[in-house]
Amino acid sequence: MKKVYIETLGCQMNKSDAERMYGMLEHQGYTQTDEPRDADMLVINTCSIRQLSEDKAYSQIGVWGKWKKNRPDLKIVFAGCVAQQAGEKLFRRAPYVDLVLGTQRLYELPELVKRIENGERVVSIEEKPYEESDIQINRVKSVNAWVPIMEGCNNFCTYCIVPYTRGRERSRKPELILNEIKKALNEGFKEITLLGQNVDSYGKDLEPHQNLSWLLRQINALEGKFRIRFVTSYPTDITEELIDTVIELDKVCEYFHIPMQSGDDYVLKKMNRRYDYATYKKICENIRSRIPDVTITSDFIAGFPGETEKQFQNTLRAMSELELDYSNTAAYSPREKTVAAKWVDLYIPEDVKTDRLARLNEHNRECCLKSNQKYVGREMEVLVEKLENHDGQSIITGRTRNNKIVHIPYDKDITGEFINVKITSARTWYLRGEMIN
Ligand code: SF4
Repeated sequence: MKKVYIETLGCQMNKSDAERMYGMLEHQGYTQTDEPRDADMLVINTCSIRQLSEDKAYSQIGVWGKWKKNRPDLKIVFAGCVAQQAGEKLFRRAPYVDLVLGTQRLYELPELVKRIENGERVVSIEEKPYEESDIQINRVKSVNAWVPIMEGCNNFCTYCIVPYTRGRERSRKPELILNEIKKALNEGFKEITLLGQNVDSYGKDLEPHQNLSWLLRQINALEGKFRIRFVTSYPTDITEELIDTVIELDKVCEYFHIPMQSGDDYVLKKMNRRYDYATYKKICENIRSRIPDVTITSDFIAGFPGETEKQFQNTLRAMSELELDYSNTAAYSPREKTVAAKWVDLYIPEDVKTDRLARLNEHNRECCLKSNQKYVGREMEVLVEKLENHDGQSIITGRTRNNKIVHIPYDKDITGEFINVKITSARTWYLRGEMIN
């Protein structure tokens, strides 16, 4: 059998795409290998959210291109967001690549692989979603199955490349989503995470219209004990109905990921985010007042073009004032085609961005520890994810419903079980606990 190796960079959507690629390629007679040197086909699933990821993708195929000199039959596939942008141009830069596969052509992979096996070199990046069929998915062994429910984005935040690489919002058909979830549950997965750039926009483009609350109800009605999560939420798309649904449905976890990006109103406007700080705060307070123990996480950018020190301080203040449980942070990275990338005169010097990012991270650490300390002494349900050895001690790690990581001393592999745990102490990034009999 031929072997395929897939290198995945970037977000969970890319990881989910890789699971789909493996599934489709298995049907084509390929087996999965973790050793790129053994592979007959090498696939890089690229990310363009930051320059660093893009550079990494080009550097990786440069290495593979050298291998191909001695192995002319080796097939190289360049997929994902960078591929979507590069298109035909990639063949000039990397003449050893056989296939450039855009983000909306994923399900065309089996046909395209046949063509490259016959010696063709193919670019497939047309921005027209390829009709999805009910395919096999080779999921990474875990308790959590990631299930995309929609793709693309209509928001055009001025710093973000996603609308250019993933296209406009498109919801997957509910029957495909439900079938995929049923299969994952039959395979033993215990947690379903619904994935999308803006999950709260789910269903607006479907006929008849549906919404995320409706979809959550369909999933919650499936048999068995399992959990449901959803990421990512655009702040102003979170409706009262959605909050009600989270409260009402027993399988839906108390967790929201709501990127704020900046705590300063002027910067938010320049980012083309459609809310101000007061609005975000109100949304957060509303969720917290209605859902006890809810975890709210966020994303922030340090050093957006033109951001002053005072404006940056507003972000630090916002993070603390709202007691965010955790935040993903990044320094601003200009992305070609986006509006903000053109504001070269307003770029913040690298050393200032680095300093702001460090301070943002310090604040984030303080917020996380404070958030974790709230749970010491409490009893919580944990879904066990794995058994590990930490410096000679056997530890099982898992997550609470509100997405807190918990370490528990225990020496048997009970991955996939729901257990009750008493939290004994809090660290910055995780809790420690003991099992309750
Ligand atoms: S809402 Fe998210 S995905 Fe869409 S443009 Fe803004 S940052 Fe990018």
